[in-house]
Amino acid sequence: MDIQANKYDVIVVGGGAAGMIAAGRAAECGKSVLLLEKNRRMGMKLKLTGNGRCNVTNMAPLNTFTEHYFDSAPFLHNAFSVFYNEELIALLRNLGVPTKVSGQGRVFPVSDCSGDIVHALRGYLEKSGVVALDSSAVERLLISGGCIQGVCCADKREFYASKVIIATGGKSYPETGSSGDGYAWAEQAGHRIIPLRPGLVGFEVRERWVKDLPGISLDNAEINFVRGTKKKRMRGEMIFTHYGVSGPLFLDAGAELSDGLALGNAVPVSLDIYPRAAAPEIARIFEEAARLTPHRRCKSVIAGLVPQKLALVCLGAARLPAEKQIHALIKNEKSCLINSLKALQLTILRPRPLKEAMVTRGGVCTAEINPKTMESRIVPGLYFCGEVIDVAGCCGGFNLQAAFSTGFVAGESAALK
Ligand SMILES: Cc1cc2nc3c(=O)[nH]c(=O)nc-3n(C[C@H](O)[C@H](O)[C@H](O)COP(=O)(O)OP(=O)(O)OC[C@H]3O[C@@H](n4cnc5c(N)ncnc54)[C@H](O)[C@@H]3O)c2cc1C
Repeated sequence: MDIQANKYDVIVVGGGAAGMIAAGRAAECGKSVLLLEKNRRMGMKLKLTGNGRCNVTNMAPLNTFTEHYFDSAPFLHNAFSVFYNEELIALLRNLGVPTKVSGQGRVFPVSDCSGDIVHALRGYLEKSGVVALDSSAVERLLISGGCIQGVCCADKREFYASKVIIATGGKSYPETGSSGDGYAWAEQAGHRIIPLRPGLVGFEVRERWVKDLPGISLDNAEINFVRGTKKKRMRGEMIFTHYGVSGPLFLDAGAELSDGLALGNAVPVSLDIYPRAAAPEIARIFEEAARLTPHRRCKSVIAGLVPQKLALVCLGAARLPAEKQIHALIKNEKSCLINSLKALQLTILRPRPLKEAMVTRGGVCTAEINPKTMESRIVPGLYFCGEVIDVAGCCGGFNLQAAFSTGFVAGESAALK
């Protein structure tokens, strides 16, 4: 190995979650490692994660963890059995970042500051002796005789290694650096790219009333819809936006809703905005209100259950005047009003574009990557890790764990092979 001549044992392209851990691990295993990042700073997307808090992983046990990945669970299983949430938490602790577990098993740094995770990973690179170069965009791979030889940068610098790990991320949030470069290289190397599509993204809806509610959120809502021939029911937090609906409930429902949308069909969804009470219980709330405060307006009674603006939508959907008094509701009006709380109709038209998605679904086909090593089955010495692979998970720390796990395995395998 001769670093002066731009030769390394391992080159990692992309300084995001997957690339930083891959480089750190390969160097920890005693190899000379070069990490090339096109931005001026590494970990730009990592800094945005979890609304700046960075939901690094989830405490879901391994046997349920895989349920949180769309079709990629079998491919990820081996990486998780090598480097999983406990190993990640221990690594972060050793790097000076203690973590805490919040609701639904989500793990965050105690500081609630994503910058601390980026800082820790940079420390990992330094400690393990990685040569990390910022502002170094790779333009193409150097492949000769079917084997990887190195990479060529946009400024025509060439770096050589018999192991190259591609960790360039997906194609969403391109302003963070993940503009999809790795897909083209993989394709040129002979890999199949599963079509890219947005994952964990909001949806545009047909109903105009939604446009009056941007920023209104529900910490507990339920949706019912049909996927193929199966009835689906999901619960969680949601938010109305200027274009439609978003929030964990819709982000996680995305994969289920996308089938119908991909066929060009709008998907009707029935939205229960007050799932904590069944219809008879809500009827009792109305009866109680009519008995105790007969002249109270319906909008005020409903606003006791859901945000006020949404209460007006319910009255509109039930075709009732907002000023109607609760005692004056006739039986049929009462059931219409309950129905508008329990089954508000939404028509999902399309997901928001890929650039707005939190993850990219699709990518380098997993069948052509060895899940035990992350090495290409087509070009020896070429490895993939993170979102550039066709892997994607639900909200809750699952995508970063997949990036960290595949990065760790790629780094270790490239170093030890
Ligand atoms: C707003 C937002 C919030 C999110 N929050 C969470 C969360 O809380 N928890 C969670 O689990 N997941 C979250 N995700 C998803 C998660 O961030 C990604 O799945 C994860 O960062 C993927 O890691 P990666 O290393 O594969 O790619 P990235 O983090 O995108 O890193 C890829 C790196 O490669 C570099 N690169 C690209 N092309 C080149 C090139 N030609 N030459 C050199 N370098 C290059 C890029 O600049 C970038 O730094 C969030 C995503 C978004 C957009």
